[in-house]
Amino acid sequence: MSESSQTNTSFRANKALGQHFLVSEKAIRTIAEAIPVGETAIEIGPGPGAITKSVLARVKHLTIIEKDDRFAHYWQEKTAEYANLSVCHGDVMEDLAEVVAQDKPQWIVGNLPYNISGPLTAALASFALSGGMVLMYQREVGQRITAEPGSKIYGGLSVLVRHFYEPKKLITLPPGAFNPPPKVHSMVIRLLPHGKIPKCEFNDLQKTVRQGFAHRRKTIFNQYRGQLTQDDFLGIGIDPKKRPEQLAYDDWVRITLLLVQKK
Ligand code: SAM
Repeated sequence: MSESSQTNTSFRANKALGQHFLVSEKAIRTIAEAIPVGETAIEIGPGPGAITKSVLARVKHLTIIEKDDRFAHYWQEKTAEYANLSVCHGDVMEDLAEVVAQDKPQWIVGNLPYNISGPLTAALASFALSGGMVLMYQREVGQRITAEPGSKIYGGLSVLVRHFYEPKKLITLPPGAFNPPPKVHSMVIRLLPHGKIPKCEFNDLQKTVRQGFAHRRKTIFNQYRGQLTQDDFLGIGIDPKKRPEQLAYDDWVRITLLLVQKK
């Protein structure tokens, strides 16, 4: 048995914390090798360390953020063994911004707890990292993130991740790649910076997108009725009869800039 799968079986999974421990060596390799040697990273939810040990062997420095007391204590003790490891024992939804501001990591990696993956991705998408992110999702969420305009599953997250990044699917995994196995398939997504300077603020884009996708069946004009006129949309080259899922990232930026200008 490999070291990672031995570790995984010695801790009982806590379902409330979305714990499904990765046991697929191929997936572990794919995730770790997506992070260049000698860079700095944050890992969200290391658990017993399937990914952590492989990442620690590559990076200059790794900070882990873990909510589960058992794993946080386990990794705090491991700091004696790993000089390049720091531990944040906390909730990623509360502590991530501070850890990113302090560490200025090049990369963020994680087999994300599926129960918070939507709001967590919206938060992650706001950080412009020089390296990128390698993230494991429930397959359906991964498909939504990588979806192109025109697809029924294209939504707010598909737009937000494109503010700083180009998303790419790396691998799809069956439930058996985890212990205990989840009910769903999973997908590893890589976000690499596209390098273009965004024309609007992330927070403004997020507000626009939240409102714009609130009622998917409504036309884009109806989503902003009272704020933007039909002529406003035509003036920025958008047909006001279009539905939100038909608009590309650049369209959302133009709507955002107009809304900001009219405030
Ligand atoms: N990285 C391990 C692996 O791949 O086997 C565990 C992944 S498991 C899907 C998700 C991990 O995130 C667990 O370790 C869990 O305790 C942790 N977690 C869940 N919610 C969290 C939160 N709000 N903040 C920080 N960690 C959290």
